[in-house]
Amino acid sequence: MNDFNNEERIMATEYTSEDADIETSLRPRVFDDYIGQEKVKENLKIYIQAAVSRGESLDHVLLYGPPGLGKTTLAGIIANEMNVNLRVTSGPAIEKQGDLAALLTNLNEGDVLFVDEIHRLHRSVEEVLYPAMEDNALDIIIGKGPSARSIRLDLPKFTLVGATTRAGQLSAPLRDRFGVVMRLELYTPEELSRIVSRSAAILGIGIDSEGALQIAKCSRGTPRIANRILKRARDFAQVVGNGVIDREAACLALKRMEIDELGLDATDRRLLTTMIKSYNGGPVGLETISAAIGEEAVTIEDVYEPYLMQIGFLGRTPRGRIVTPQAYEHLGIEYKRN
Ligand code: ADP
Repeated sequence: MNDFNNEERIMATEYTSEDADIETSLRPRVFDDYIGQEKVKENLKIYIQAAVSRGESLDHVLLYGPPGLGKTTLAGIIANEMNVNLRVTSGPAIEKQGDLAALLTNLNEGDVLFVDEIHRLHRSVEEVLYPAMEDNALDIIIGKGPSARSIRLDLPKFTLVGATTRAGQLSAPLRDRFGVVMRLELYTPEELSRIVSRSAAILGIGIDSEGALQIAKCSRGTPRIANRILKRARDFAQVVGNGVIDREAACLALKRMEIDELGLDATDRRLLTTMIKSYNGGPVGLETISAAIGEEAVTIEDVYEPYLMQIGFLGRTPRGRIVTPQAYEHLGIEYKRN
């Protein structure tokens, strides 16, 4: 359904294999390098300090927010600051109860187990997590039928860090077992510009402050996208500029990638213009939009909408989504009140 062209891949917030090579080197390892998310950082620091001084493991932490905002990074920092190992897995990767049991029994005392996309855990697997999170215990059923019995194994104390795009998708019993629930926010252009400058320094890319801010403004509040655009802008600066990313080089790169000055790409524009042209700007239901533009509803909800709402281009009403007058103006379409 997707026409997989260049700009769509650039703006996709999901992790792609292309990110793998740079993400490891760019991922902050300590709080001081983790830019923005001040409230989350301050609170986490206190919880960690308190746990360390009591000689205990940290309470289970649930991080939620759109992809690419730094949830995995934060899990790594937590493990680092607690001086324990980080084990990384994801909801869909744990297929059977036995997979989770194997993971849990291999943990060392205090370890951090990071489960990405935790809302996609099977219900039966989730049930194994409850006693593990609450009592550090694993209940195993031995045998079948009337002779079956349950034995309880002790597990090392561990911290579960769960990540999800929406906390509302988690089952209530699982959500209730997290002592700390934190929401990550989209980043401001100033924060993103600091992230871009930091990444450029690590990768040995020349960039000035205006170039960094230009990239930041067009990265829809997401560090992963900012780092990706930075990499592309380097190519343009090298081939058509003097090797340093200034405002001009950044603008040229963004233009070639069909990303406009607000960070909207072709899909964002298609979504808004379809809503305007075919549905008079709304209200229109998510499923209808999904069918009209050929993108999955969850992708629209997790990837496109948060940013369009943040910049005030989309609104949610009980009857569906609406396009705001600001979006009409940006697209150069006359706004007619319904
Ligand atoms: P998520 O798990 O939420 O999808 P990641 O933790 O994988 O996101 O972050 C994606 C990339 O963005 C990381 O590799 C890192 O380089 C960068 N990043 C994320 N958050 C920050 C931050 N606060 N400061 C600096 N870089 C960040």
